[in-house]
Amino acid sequence: MSTESTKEIEESDYFPVIPGGQPFVHFWGTRGSIPVSGPRFVRHGGNTSCVVIGVDNEYIIIDAGSGIRDLGLRLAKQGPRKIHLFITHTHWDHIQGFPFFAPLFIPGFEVIIYGASGFGKDLKSIFRGQLDRDYFPVQFEDMCAKIDFQILDGDSITLNDFKIQWESTHHPAATLGFKFTWKGRSVGYVSDNEFLPGFLGAPHTLSETSEIVAQHSKLINFLKDVNLLIHEAQYTNQEYVTKVGWGHSSLSNACLFAKLTRANRWIIPHHDPMHDDDMLASKLNLTREILRSLNHTVEVSHAFDELIAYF
Ligand SMILES: [Zn+2]
Ligand SMILES: [Zn+2]
Repeated sequence: MSTESTKEIEESDYFPVIPGGQPFVHFWGTRGSIPVSGPRFVRHGGNTSCVVIGVDNEYIIIDAGSGIRDLGLRLAKQGPRKIHLFITHTHWDHIQGFPFFAPLFIPGFEVIIYGASGFGKDLKSIFRGQLDRDYFPVQFEDMCAKIDFQILDGDSITLNDFKIQWESTHHPAATLGFKFTWKGRSVGYVSDNEFLPGFLGAPHTLSETSEIVAQHSKLINFLKDVNLLIHEAQYTNQEYVTKVGWGHSSLSNACLFAKLTRANRWIIPHHDPMHDDDMLASKLNLTREILRSLNHTVEVSHAFDELIAYF
């Protein structure tokens, strides 16, 4: 007797079914700086920063890199809802997907965009400017969704059961790291942060009380004991020598940061566009070696586009 199914496979059959009552992070874009494509990048993917933190049908989006386009297509299928979009900062790789975010063009959707006040232009002017006719054919006024902007000026807000807190990171823009807490479980998201700018030495020579480390104690304490740490480690130690001050951490310095937060798990996002899949595989091995040399046990992995992690 044949048990073969005659049902045609539909696109929706590939959509992950996320168990209820479990908070998750869904990565939609894990590349830094600029999107990449091609056979050398298929394992990690090439979309720039965008992640969803959620539980059940409750979603919070962070960043509007090119990964938000696919997410938007998925949300558009589900019908109008209120969308909370948090922006770490307004460098291109964190906002370039915004003009292609489908819910913005559908009446009934409501999109609230949260971000830091910035150094110069306000958040609304930056998003509006991105849609200037010289850059894009559709104007801000042509978008049918209800769009609001909210500057994050206190230290926390609560959306349904999520408490959202933020802290400044070390990056050449007004940049925030976020912490999301749901019923005692927490995830920290820091996509762009240069920990210990200019430090090229061995990380095991430093401790939390070392002078250069103490300058970062606010961010370390902010993320202390999160269940899941998401923090970049963009440059190899060799690359970092020529990239001091670019706003991203060396691998060794990022390992020390992970150790000092005492997080149970560490997922590394914001991969350099120069790093293909093979390079990232050897970089992850090196990360594990450095963590061993720091005497630190933590489950570490690389983010990739479409990864879902629970916390
Ligand atoms: Zn970035
Ligand atoms: Zn940046």
